[in-house]
Amino acid sequence: MVEKEKDPYEKLINHFREFVLPPPKSDTLRQILEHRHTPEEAEFISKLPFAPATARKISRKLGIPKEELIEKMEALIKKGHMYKDGEGKGAAYHLAESMWQFFRMPWWIAEDNEWYRKLAKLMNKYYIEEFGGPFMNRPTVPMRVIPIDQTVVDNKEVIPHEHMMNYVDNWRRFSVSACSCRLRHDMDPAFEKSKYPMRTCMHMDDLADFAIKYGMGEEITKEEAIEILKGAADAGLVHNVENYMTNNTTICNCDPDYCIYYEKIKNLPRTMPVGTTKSNYIREIDEEKCIGCGLCAKRCPMDAIEFVKEEKRVIFTPERCIGCGVCVHKCPADAIWLKKRDEEHTYPSDGMEIGQIMTKELGGDFEEIRKRLQSF
Ligand code: SF4
Ligand code: SF4
Repeated sequence: MVEKEKDPYEKLINHFREFVLPPPKSDTLRQILEHRHTPEEAEFISKLPFAPATARKISRKLGIPKEELIEKMEALIKKGHMYKDGEGKGAAYHLAESMWQFFRMPWWIAEDNEWYRKLAKLMNKYYIEEFGGPFMNRPTVPMRVIPIDQTVVDNKEVIPHEHMMNYVDNWRRFSVSACSCRLRHDMDPAFEKSKYPMRTCMHMDDLADFAIKYGMGEEITKEEAIEILKGAADAGLVHNVENYMTNNTTICNCDPDYCIYYEKIKNLPRTMPVGTTKSNYIREIDEEKCIGCGLCAKRCPMDAIEFVKEEKRVIFTPERCIGCGVCVHKCPADAIWLKKRDEEHTYPSDGMEIGQIMTKELGGDFEEIRKRLQSF
């Protein structure tokens, strides 16, 4: 039996837990790591930094020759565990935080084989039983809803940072990958196969450069990106970007039943608060125009609308509305639209601010984490 402090998997778990969004300890987490890494690889990763550092600096710190180190880190990037910022001498390497390493990046390169199917089962179990818990009912989550284009019918009400086309027009490069959440569920026989399109996980600018370079995403044009957004909206998926206002580089098109950001909150009791994932809009109806077809209730991904078939009418539960516009987009009578909520809430300004807020909400000390990371 390996002593706890010498056990490479234990070291790796503790290393993950020193960063933001610490993954809960459990037998399943250990099984995931044993499935993904040899003991040597686990030991190596447990020494790598979460804060960006040059290969030269990491080489000196770990006492590994630079060329050998770069080869090992490039292999980890290709498996979805690390990032590289920039190129050439100044390129900085760092570990991805646990949520991205577990639930996002590895699935952009996933193949439908025995190894990934086993990983999918373990990941789903871990999310449902342990990891998803911290997401449940927490005020701040990593992504926020962007309404489907044109569902805010009054142009005066369009908020610039909540208008998808404002983002699309300003990005220079686009990539698309499979939806990591739906793919993970599709590979696990415990779940029904997703009925939604799979190729909808988009990245832009620096993240697109990275995804394309490392085979995690396929390059697409701006026009193709717009077509994917339209297809996702038609299908009933919810647009999301990172839950801050500047330098956004991700669009998720989510099915809340299978989404890492929604799966837990969707299953809360009917009047749950939905935190800052929601947009600053809410669905409004003109009862006179409504023909009682029930389509909006069928499409609403958050079960915020109930169809009373006998009376040909719908009942709306505003507390569940995330302001996505999925119901509005297909209403045959133009009877519903999105209007601004009475109280507008603000979103974190950037990745640093959301990191601070989320760490605090999880009971951690962001300053302490920052100092520890900088001391690498
Ligand atoms: S989709 Fe439109 S017409 Fe049909 S029930 Fe909903 S609001 Fe009414
Ligand atoms: S009612 Fe449902 S579909 Fe419509 S905006 Fe709200 S959450 Fe989205």
